[in-house]
Amino acid sequence: MKVSPKVWRNGEIINWDDARIHVMSHVVHYGSSVFEGIRCYNTSQGPAVFRLAEHMQRLLNSAKIYRMEPRFNRDQITEATLELLGESGLDECYIRPVIFRGLDEEKPAFGVNPFRNPVEHYIAVWEWGKYLGEEALETGIDVCVSSWTRITSNSMPAMAKAGANYMNSQLIKMEAILNGYAEGIALDDRGYVSEGSGENIFMVNNGKLITPPLGASILPGITRDSVVQIARDLGIDVVETTVQRSALYLADELFFTGTAAEITPIRSVDKITVGEGKRGPITEKLQDEFFKIIRAERAAPDNAEWLTFVDTGEKKTAVA
Ligand code: PMP
Repeated sequence: MKVSPKVWRNGEIINWDDARIHVMSHVVHYGSSVFEGIRCYNTSQGPAVFRLAEHMQRLLNSAKIYRMEPRFNRDQITEATLELLGESGLDECYIRPVIFRGLDEEKPAFGVNPFRNPVEHYIAVWEWGKYLGEEALETGIDVCVSSWTRITSNSMPAMAKAGANYMNSQLIKMEAILNGYAEGIALDDRGYVSEGSGENIFMVNNGKLITPPLGASILPGITRDSVVQIARDLGIDVVETTVQRSALYLADELFFTGTAAEITPIRSVDKITVGEGKRGPITEKLQDEFFKIIRAERAAPDNAEWLTFVDTGEKKTAVA
């Protein structure tokens, strides 16, 4: 895996090897971080970041929920990302901004109360291929319904992309992997379908797209929003409603969406074949449009500006 030789930290560009924190940082003990996952794609017009502004807004929203006072505003962290990408030497990469509670080494504080721990900003980038495997985009993946319940919004708000939420995601993911599945789908505390460990989920039934609503215990996915907009643009109806577990088995098509997973078809759930057991026609159509948009080969719905181009200038070399 190639990583960028540089990391952005609190307004300065530092070396990858210097991007370290103290073991007594608040985040290590109490999970106090919020973060983003963003992709930069290589297009014929150069590297472009997909929906950068929306990701940065979600990052700041997550920080707000956890009462973290950011030291930088949306424009500043957007600029910082573009500067780092310009230095990274990577045309196609994954971008990880993170904000967390650190440690004031002059006045250390080790308790749960986070207010005495400084808020730190970092951005790192690296080359990351297809999250669920290259061929998964075509053949689809086998998934299970998790025995773990998704975090409930009154205890751990799923609306925030917080590091601690991913303890729940890890339980879902580990159980799935150990049982031979690529991914797990969690039900919420009411027993309705919520999302995968790191993806939103969509069903196709009779030509309509159905997905759990934003009011459910799900992350408001930016790929989810993109797919909803692309589908409506194509004249496909989208219904946001509660979904029962058994409806997953009976769907014509099923797929995950996410920055890492992009649009990944699901071919079976709990060893029950979904539809034809392969990528369905609507999933394929949506993938096709999505990939054209991220490669700057087609305009986004309503000509929205979903791509931010990177000024690569003179490229530095990434570290293998
Ligand atoms: N749900 C969870 C739990 C996730 O971690 C992700 C990935 N960020 C998503 C959904 C999809 O969100 P997005 O499309 O914004 O990447």
